[in-house]
Amino acid sequence: MPWIGCPRNLYNSKVGEDRYFRRFARKSLLLTGEFAPIDQQYSPFKSELTPWLSEVPGVVLRHGAVLWKPADDRYFSKRGGRPVTHTKHGQPSVWLTSEVVKLVPVVDADTGEISGHQRHIGIPKFPVGALAFKAHKEYQRPASLHISIHAGRWHVSFNYDDNIPEPTDQDITAWRMPFDEAEWRTMTVGLDRGLAILVATSDGQAFDFSPVQKARLDPNTLSKKRGQRRQARRTQGSKGWIKAKRRVARYRRYGADVRRDVAHKTSHTLANTPQNPLFVFEALKVENLTARARGSSEEPGKNVRQKAGLNRRILASMWGQTKVFLQYKARRQGKLCIDVPPHDSSQECAACGHIHKDNRRLQAEFVCQRCGHSDNADRNASKVIAQRGVTLLLSGQSGRKVKKKCRITKRKAIGAESSESAAVMPPTLGETTVSRLGGNTPALWSLNRETPATSQRLSRWEISWLLIRYRLTVSSCAFVDDYSSGVSS
Ligand SMILES: [Zn+2]
Repeated sequence: MPWIGCPRNLYNSKVGEDRYFRRFARKSLLLTGEFAPIDQQYSPFKSELTPWLSEVPGVVLRHGAVLWKPADDRYFSKRGGRPVTHTKHGQPSVWLTSEVVKLVPVVDADTGEISGHQRHIGIPKFPVGALAFKAHKEYQRPASLHISIHAGRWHVSFNYDDNIPEPTDQDITAWRMPFDEAEWRTMTVGLDRGLAILVATSDGQAFDFSPVQKARLDPNTLSKKRGQRRQARRTQGSKGWIKAKRRVARYRRYGADVRRDVAHKTSHTLANTPQNPLFVFEALKVENLTARARGSSEEPGKNVRQKAGLNRRILASMWGQTKVFLQYKARRQGKLCIDVPPHDSSQECAACGHIHKDNRRLQAEFVCQRCGHSDNADRNASKVIAQRGVTLLLSGQSGRKVKKKCRITKRKAIGAESSESAAVMPPTLGETTVSRLGGNTPALWSLNRETPATSQRLSRWEISWLLIRYRLTVSSCAFVDDYSSGVSS
């Protein structure tokens, strides 16, 4: 696929253009009352300096600019940071729409039936060829497709509309509400995600890597480490270094493939168990749990190596991936996934509710110190989680928490301190209203979405920075005036 790096090149160009405009706008464009443009144009980046872009259809290049726009919108709706440039490493991909992909039916010579489709990529000016691929399941005709490469292996992915409506969490809750509490308690599945057993459920199931996968993962990890050491010994950028790097990437990809496979199979089995309409997870913050051990390279904290190993094991247990997969699979089946607080779930007795750390003296065994109830520790925890889930659901507070909305309006009278600055500063800046709305209310942020450098968007830092710059300019001008007048007299 000769086009694979070109949309990324355009995307990075858009990121660079945006950075340039923001810096430029801060310095001078704002003083003239003009705003930096935000558009999806890609043609300015095609020039004699980038001859490779002339060998790619414009529709493919356009996607680089088109993908940048939602990334930029994410920043303004406070869902993420600014778009950043993408490197050629990782999983580069190209998005092909119907303009450059044609589907040709493959007709069986004997029966005359259509056995599949062949994809012809390219346009008359830029032909590429036919794309053969292995489909893992039945599919319908897609509108567009993505071609990507991951550690030397090519993938084709696409989606299509199967016209099956997907219910929302509110719909599912409304359907299931006629159940009484006893029914909920028998049908709810609590899921305890752990390190010894990946997922333990309250109905006694346990999901883990298969023996074959375990047997292959360990030598794979060792080979990866060996490859990383070999790569470190070689000169960066040399042929041998690149070779070693590719080999490490292949080992890494194998581990990721195995983990994703287990997460898919676990979530599929759970979602397709007919008698379970509710799945309860602990609200674990994996990001916080896998934070690095404290300290710096000069003054390291305690047990840094151990913490790093624990983090690696937590991340290899794909707690997040299993949950995400189960969430969407369950919703398709009209089932619900909810989160409950995780505190003390491993020390609480599922029979009597007694919480004490002595209840769990051994890693695998739970023995209640009050009522004597004993069970496998993970199963006990998953039962506790299931009970918490039912209580939360029946209390009607299981939905996603609505963020508190607060509105702080500050009027910053910038020109009030020094009279001469008010005369030169644009009048809108002195009356800038900095408004922040909590939650997802886009009302004020959408005031003028095409102009991020307007005075409405200036933060307090930017305003004070502008003011300092302005004062410096004014004082240096005054100095020059004095000097020149002194010389002339
Ligand atoms: Zn007990």
